[in-house]
Amino acid sequence: MFFILRIKGPFVKSYFNIYFEIMFKAVFPGSFDPPTLGHLNIIERASAIFDELVVVVAENRQKKYLFSAEERLLMMEKMVKPRGNVACHIWDSLIADFMKRENIRILIRGFRGMEDFSYEFELSMMNKALHPHIETLFLSTDPKYIVLRSSSIKELASFHGDVSLMVPPLVAEALKAKFADPGL
Ligand code: ADP
Repeated sequence: MFFILRIKGPFVKSYFNIYFEIMFKAVFPGSFDPPTLGHLNIIERASAIFDELVVVVAENRQKKYLFSAEERLLMMEKMVKPRGNVACHIWDSLIADFMKRENIRILIRGFRGMEDFSYEFELSMMNKALHPHIETLFLSTDPKYIVLRSSSIKELASFHGDVSLMVPPLVAEALKAKFADPGL
């Protein structure tokens, strides 16, 4: 969140007419390996609440991903294109540092149920310890997407199962291409 001070006109009825415009910004970080319809649902809902949403594609060198950070970013950029107030970035360090740098306080996470709870709770505590101004907001999943998980979608795709109801067509195509590659 940040404030822009605007001075509207030099003089209006012989006094300064000064007003504040408040911009509410939030980040939605994740691996998005690959992005799913569950992620997209969270993005659509968060971007309807906030003035600007920054989707942060995590690049963690300790983790093994199916898609490179650039591939995940490209898929995400195409998915969010219809929404004018969503930007996408790759970040290879602590999300708290990204938020500090960008002066953003609100962190969005999706929540599918109790299975997500302890991990997400610990993560939010850790981020708060790193940067006390961070507020984590949880959006519970749309019931349609409750069982969607990137890891199970990858597994299904690896056996050439139908993922078309779980991911956007461009992601389904990318998964097909990945698992068709004999070099994998
Ligand atoms: P991470 O490795 O950071 O958990 P993920 O890509 O798995 O990254 O998830 C990013 C965020 O999206 C997490 O907050 C996760 O709980 C949420 N999420 C994942 N799938 C769904 C879904 N089907 N519905 C709602 N939220 C989801």
